[in-house]
Amino acid sequence: MQELMPETYKELCEVRRILEENYHDMLDIEFTIQDGKLYMLQCRVGKRTGVAALTMALDMLKEGLIDEKEVVMRLTPEQLDELLHPILDTADEKKHTVIAKGLPAGPGGAVGKIALTSEKAKEYRAAKVANVLVREETNPEDVEGMRAADGILTARGGMTSHAALVARGWGKCCIVGCDAVKIDLENGIVKIGDQQFKEGDTISLNGSKGWVYAEPVGMINATENPLFQQFMALVDKYRKMGVRTNADNPEDAQNAVNFGAEGIGLFRIEHMFYGKNSEEPLAKLRNMILANTTEERVAALNELEPYIKNAAKGTLKVLDGKPLTFRLMDPPLHEFVPHTEEKQRALAQERGISFEEIKKRIDALNEVNPMMGLRGVRLGIVYPEITETQFRALFQATAELMTEGFDPHLEIMVPLTINVKELEHQKAIADRVKAEVEAKFNVKIEYLYGTMIEIPRATLVADQIASVAQFFSFGTNDLTQMTFGFSRDDVNAIVKDYIEEKIIPADPFNTLDQEGVGQLVKLGVERGRGQRANLKCGVCGEHGGDPASVHFFYKAGLNYVSCSPFRVPVARLAAAQAAIEEER
Ligand code: PEP
Ligand code: MG
Repeated sequence: MQELMPETYKELCEVRRILEENYHDMLDIEFTIQDGKLYMLQCRVGKRTGVAALTMALDMLKEGLIDEKEVVMRLTPEQLDELLHPILDTADEKKHTVIAKGLPAGPGGAVGKIALTSEKAKEYRAAKVANVLVREETNPEDVEGMRAADGILTARGGMTSHAALVARGWGKCCIVGCDAVKIDLENGIVKIGDQQFKEGDTISLNGSKGWVYAEPVGMINATENPLFQQFMALVDKYRKMGVRTNADNPEDAQNAVNFGAEGIGLFRIEHMFYGKNSEEPLAKLRNMILANTTEERVAALNELEPYIKNAAKGTLKVLDGKPLTFRLMDPPLHEFVPHTEEKQRALAQERGISFEEIKKRIDALNEVNPMMGLRGVRLGIVYPEITETQFRALFQATAELMTEGFDPHLEIMVPLTINVKELEHQKAIADRVKAEVEAKFNVKIEYLYGTMIEIPRATLVADQIASVAQFFSFGTNDLTQMTFGFSRDDVNAIVKDYIEEKIIPADPFNTLDQEGVGQLVKLGVERGRGQRANLKCGVCGEHGGDPASVHFFYKAGLNYVSCSPFRVPVARLAAAQAAIEEER
């Protein structure tokens, strides 16, 4: 064009310059030329990938076209997320057909051979073969297989199902609730939509969209962009709300700190009983669960205590100077005992008691609604020795670190609270144990005592609760479950239809239901701070890593959000954007 119509070309360049100067952005411009005359048809802000958005925003800052705050506003959280995970190459993706859709539970992309069991995934990993673990659903026994897999695809489960939580924690590509997946384990085949695959066939997952492909799709890796650091420094300059992480081991904690986490908002001690190195503590936990008398339980707890202490100590050490919120044990007990006769017989033999006796004890744990059963603080009220052990382990870990010259900032959090009496009950134990440990180590331990707010009732009586609790952490997974009356593990099918029928706008376990659950969060904050003006409030449900929810939490006045390590940069960006938007 420059050669054929030099004058019109110059004119077009000038119009482009004026438009871009006016819009302060890169534009997608449409024009036509008729009889040598230039007509401008339309212009709009040009679409771009995450890498391009980052590069352009920082270029425009250098050129003085936009200011720092605008740079922060220029990347969507989804674009930032793109930079953090290997993803399917969008251009190549377009050449393939989506064969099934599920829930986008863990971001990024994965291409690999189908593994139908955790054993197969581990086998592939050992042979350095990329693989996708395809399961009906996952349970704690699959954790090592999930770790070995490059991607995870499940037929059942919602956004807070086991697979989704674990995968998101690792930043691993994961699709759950993909009901087009039909597994025939016996014959080693799986049907996905209309197509049939054998174990070992290659498929591709787009975990950010929830899409499954029948063939290998190309991958790209955008993580090593040095502009990322520069951008995140600007994000933190304008961010007002804190960002913590949900982590329960030194590696994840370090990873999250590298991603900019300012502490741990949720340390789930139950994770010590899953996966690698879990055999020993799990055996002690089983002894505790299956104990028949208080003496038996105390004996099992005494053996468990050093494991809890070491778990807490290792992570407190990594966090040195940053807060760690330890959530008292909240395990669904039945998940930790064997359910098949074969395994129950093996356990009976191991423990030197009869199979009938073991079976009786396991059957006694059965609850019709375990999510509303003996979990959370209820466990500590019914069996105070369980909390006592945890307090002792935590205070000892803190005292040991102090004497070793570290700076532990321990916060202890009581789960599933419904009233202040529960907190008082557990606090009395904490006070006694703390005094004992302080005397033994000759140190003065400072810690914060707080609670999760995850049952609607707790938000209503938050003023009373705040008379004892020094902080609140909203557990929006359970708060959503209890407010909607939706089971977080089985609700997927209902939610899908509800969204299709436009009865609800989105999966409430993924993005906070601001209209309903959001009201409870606001009420909890207001009533809590009415009682204790400096009450620290945060959130540690999965919503802490969802950008739209982060905006809401900022407006609700929370001090911090806590999310999976890989969501930390996204949460930092969403928090900064919320602050800039408010100012504007
Ligand atoms: C919650 O309920 O939001 C929470 C963080 O606890 P968990 O997911 O462990 O029940
Ligand atoms: Mg909970």
